Amino acid sequence: MPKILIVDDVPTNISMLSEVLNHPTYDILVAKNGQEALDIARSLTPDLILLDIVMPKMDGYTVCKHLKADTTTQKIPVVFLTAQGGIEDETKGLELGAVDYITKPFSPAIVNARIKNHLELKRQRDILENLTAIDGLTGIPNRRRFDEYLKEEWCRAIRTNAPLSLIMIDIDYFKLFNDNYGHLAGDDCLKQVGFSLEKSIERTTDFVARYGGEEFACILPMTDIKGAIVIANKLQENILALNIPHAFSKNATCITISQGVSTQIPSQNSTSSVLISVADKALYNAKASGRNQVKS
Ligand code: GH3
Ligand code: MG
Ligand code: MG
Repeated sequence: MPKILIVDDVPTNISMLSEVLNHPTYDILVAKNGQEALDIARSLTPDLILLDIVMPKMDGYTVCKHLKADTTTQKIPVVFLTAQGGIEDETKGLELGAVDYITKPFSPAIVNARIKNHLELKRQRDILENLTAIDGLTGIPNRRRFDEYLKEEWCRAIRTNAPLSLIMIDIDYFKLFNDNYGHLAGDDCLKQVGFSLEKSIERTTDFVARYGGEEFACILPMTDIKGAIVIANKLQENILALNIPHAFSKNATCITISQGVSTQIPSQNSTSSVLISVADKALYNAKASGRNQVKS
């Protein structure tokens, strides 16, 4: 169900527009000022924002600027809906990144038609974005999506001054598995491991991706090192429980994983690459210490 956020300081405008958009499949959200609009946009990520321009405290242009500057809201299409009909106003709105500009008084039929078009474009873009973010073999997020998510969460952690943890995961003796059971069995094993890892994380903000080859990575926002180790131990247990036979492994009789955990409290003058390099070192350490274990 597409979510449409209506932002207007005049309650009668909101109710009128809600009535115009009276469509059974639209989920209408409302905000009465700029700050409320930003809060709702960040927490509920609507599919379309209908934005008034003249509002006390924060005007629509400023709201739009904030939306476009924030990675969690920058892709939400914004349509200005305003009594400001001047060419300069409209140009400014479109230059700020709005997809459309509708002046009041408007025709309900035209507003509905335009909104329907924008929602359809948004739907198609979401589908494409999902496709480019998913690993074709395992069906879990891919490396591209991992990089994006890490960047987003790194920025969020700077704002909230919260710890951010990363687990790097690597299947043990996977080359021997492939060499002995064949590439198709290897692929099937990767699918099972990916599925198990994804099923093992519980918080909606926790995230697992295929990092490459037989490596996976797990991003844990708002999680300190202790919490991250707890999760890593759970991942390890669940992979063991899959009980995928691996008679050629040098440390077990079934598929096992080694994991490296790292935690940072991100700051403006550090980058997320430290999180990866520290987790990588810990993973190397886990391998060197006999595999099938967690190091931090
Ligand atoms: P270690 O315990 O040190 O991690 O040893 P390893 O054999 O797991 O590590 P190595 O990096 O030597 O080998 C990784 C293997 O993963 C090599 C490659 O054949 C296999 N692999 C990578 N991607 C895929 C894939 O998409 N499908 C299959 N079937 N195998 C893959
Ligand atoms: Mg590897
Ligand atoms: Mg490996």
